[in-house]
Amino acid sequence: MAFKLTHALVAAAALFSVATSQAQDFPNKPITVVVPFAAGGPTDTVARLVAQAMSANLKQTVLVENVGGAGGTVGAGRVARAPGDGYTLLLHHIGHSTAPSLYRKMAYSPTEDFEPIGLITDVPMTFVARKEFPAKNMQELIAYVKTNKDKVTYANAGIGSASHLCGMLFMSSIQTDLTTVPYKGTGPAMNDLLGGQVDFMCDQTTNTTSQIKGGKIKAYAVTTKTKVPSLSDLPTLDSAGVPGFEVAVWHGLYAAKGTPSAVVDRLNKSLQAALTDPTVKQRFADLGTEPVAQNRATPEALRAHLRREIDKWSPIIKKAGIYAD
Ligand code: ASP
Repeated sequence: MAFKLTHALVAAAALFSVATSQAQDFPNKPITVVVPFAAGGPTDTVARLVAQAMSANLKQTVLVENVGGAGGTVGAGRVARAPGDGYTLLLHHIGHSTAPSLYRKMAYSPTEDFEPIGLITDVPMTFVARKEFPAKNMQELIAYVKTNKDKVTYANAGIGSASHLCGMLFMSSIQTDLTTVPYKGTGPAMNDLLGGQVDFMCDQTTNTTSQIKGGKIKAYAVTTKTKVPSLSDLPTLDSAGVPGFEVAVWHGLYAAKGTPSAVVDRLNKSLQAALTDPTVKQRFADLGTEPVAQNRATPEALRAHLRREIDKWSPIIKKAGIYAD
């Protein structure tokens, strides 16, 4: 018995010292941030800004890898299966909390298979359409899509994406089903909107602001309860025909399960440094968002937020009857 106990203590001490030395020289090789959507879209934009600032702080290369598909669940699944050493991270959004309600079967658990590092931003969404879309305002858009529902096409980034959630809530609010066109991210969806191949979508300001300001697409409303200062001409959807409508896309950073807490702490410090970096703050402001307050950019705040969001969206998604098989 005594022998077994000594053995266990020695093994535990050895594990502890491996974890400590791993944490001490972390990071000693490049880190990969998996973005579960295509390059050029809003999650990718946020990730590239944050990765660059984290790289400066960590004095190590931080690469962004786009693993799009199935509304973010393919990329998240990749990180869930990665070694828990802090070298593979996931930068995801609200979809991490809605996927368990949208998918009947999941290959991973958003709450059990990741180590939260911190929240990053809350980004408003916008209703936008191709430049030649006939409706002049949100009321006209609603009337138009109701009478032309077999013709109108609606782009999204697949089931589980924010654009899908926003669109589904919209369709259920106006009780009209439209033809959806799924992409691996709203980066490529935006290209088709610009080219006029799809009619409209709901997407983050981080992807739509410059196209709206450049007059390349039409914008109708924002999805937050209050107006967005950088797009002050746009009404809220709540005031423009869909009372009660509210969605904002929060982003968070995660490591794979089992990442030592000292490594999570180091990553959190570098995330905090990135979020107070003046260049990052300015770019975020230009894109219609801002970094979260410091007390929300923590592992505890992200863990609690994720759970709250899962609980918030589950009944809404059930009520709207939107599922993937
Ligand atoms: N905006 C996308 C979404 O619909 C994701 C992306 O491409 O970043 O969730």
